[in-house]
Amino acid sequence: MNERARLFENCRVKTMDTEVPEAGALLVNAGKVEAVGRMHDVRMHPLAKKAEKTDLGDRRVIPGIIDSHLHFAAWSEGKKAVDLSGCRSIAEVVEKLTERASTLPPDAWVRGMHFDHSRFIENRLPDRSDLDAVKNPVLLTRLCYHAHCANSRALELAGISGDADLPEGIQRDGTGDPTGVVLESGADLLFDAFRKGSPDGSDTLKGLSDCMREMASYGVTSINTTSAKHLGIDESFGPYQELRRRGELLQRVTIHFNDLLPYGIASFFGDDRIRFGGLKLFADGGFCARTGAMSFDYKGMPGHRGELNYEPGIFSRIVLEAQIQGVQVAVHTVGDRAMDMVLDAFEAAMTAHPRPWLRHRIIHCYIVRPDQAKRMASLKVIGDIQPVFLADEIDIAESGVPEDILPISYAWRSLRETGVLLAGSSDCPAALPNPWLGVDAAVNRVRAHERTPVGGWFPKQKFSLDETIELFTRNSAIALGMGDMAGTIEAGKFADFVVLEDDPWSLPAEDLSKTRVKATFRGGECIYGKI
Ligand SMILES: [Zn+2]
Repeated sequence: MNERARLFENCRVKTMDTEVPEAGALLVNAGKVEAVGRMHDVRMHPLAKKAEKTDLGDRRVIPGIIDSHLHFAAWSEGKKAVDLSGCRSIAEVVEKLTERASTLPPDAWVRGMHFDHSRFIENRLPDRSDLDAVKNPVLLTRLCYHAHCANSRALELAGISGDADLPEGIQRDGTGDPTGVVLESGADLLFDAFRKGSPDGSDTLKGLSDCMREMASYGVTSINTTSAKHLGIDESFGPYQELRRRGELLQRVTIHFNDLLPYGIASFFGDDRIRFGGLKLFADGGFCARTGAMSFDYKGMPGHRGELNYEPGIFSRIVLEAQIQGVQVAVHTVGDRAMDMVLDAFEAAMTAHPRPWLRHRIIHCYIVRPDQAKRMASLKVIGDIQPVFLADEIDIAESGVPEDILPISYAWRSLRETGVLLAGSSDCPAALPNPWLGVDAAVNRVRAHERTPVGGWFPKQKFSLDETIELFTRNSAIALGMGDMAGTIEAGKFADFVVLEDDPWSLPAEDLSKTRVKATFRGGECIYGKI
């Protein structure tokens, strides 16, 4: 850390602090913002005279970006998998897997990720007969993480056969044999077999460190990473502590687990670098797999309304236990039926054991009825949204959601207008980690590749650029219980900020995803780029 104070001047700062929204200079001392304001005023500060001065060349400065929900360990792990995101057919998938298999010993697992079957010419998930072209065991995971595909060798190693008593989610054909398509937690057996058959992650730290460097290059200074045990995703403190010892922990890290911690550990235990976030639960499934719990039938699927992952009474008891322990609960919630269960549980727990400082969170908020939005606002429940999903899922939404429900799907601006605090995130690796893709999606609301529909999908739901930057900075900080230390550029807070090469406020809206970062600072320390 710089011993000397540092004065950053000749810049255009968007502070995201409502009292002083714009500034021209920034004085940093001992990792914190000492002063921010007009250049003339900041120069008059007693520390400014001796400070090291840096001219930012009239560049735009914003608070450090905070990704409020992602799966860091899974992202790092997935980087080793075959990237199927560019595939447009099952044949292409098989070709890529075969290529990887040819570099591996015969019984080594071939892991493929990030495919989107709605972009395949076949428009279906690959099954075992497709994947049997590869001799090695094969396990694929769709980009949303809620659907998986395996070949016969993988099913055999996982003990999944037609005669066995199998968990829900494992699809069978007309004769009762597994097809190789597995939804949701049905994949546990496959993940167990995969982990048994894969060498342990001695390169885990390097993977995490690479991911941190990539995040810093986008301007990200804090992350909230989350375990998702049933999807084979596990987080732990140890690797981040080790990275810190090595001086490679670039972002501030908050971690949510799928269980309460022992010894009565409550939310935000830790320090500003590594902290316990809270409890992450999954109320329902996903949209792409049509497992999110709705109060209506999915389009073209009479009687099919998705599924709750809990009996509501059991769910309420878990939330109450967390509330008593002082633990924030963040719940994956896609459908409105799941939303009812979650809000009922939150309200009951908050009434029984009020803890005004503790704000619970609902992750995704895909389908939210107006009455539910009002309840979220009055309970001060935070919504964690991933605008980037919209850019990938317009077709999935239109083919699955009845016409009259579409206006309340991904209708996040309505939530904001109702008074719900919304935090922005990527949910990486379910989507790409670059937050500027999310900024583009929130502002433009068009398909990622085709850039349609022109003018945006339900354009009333578009966010302004200021509102969008607020999602990924100020609001995310509040979601993570860090509102008093980060999220805005304000005297007394950590000097977490980004110097931008391009000014997003001057770029054409369709180019927002291309915004380049000049340098990223966390606690006054440059973690990316050069000034
Ligand atoms: Zn997630």
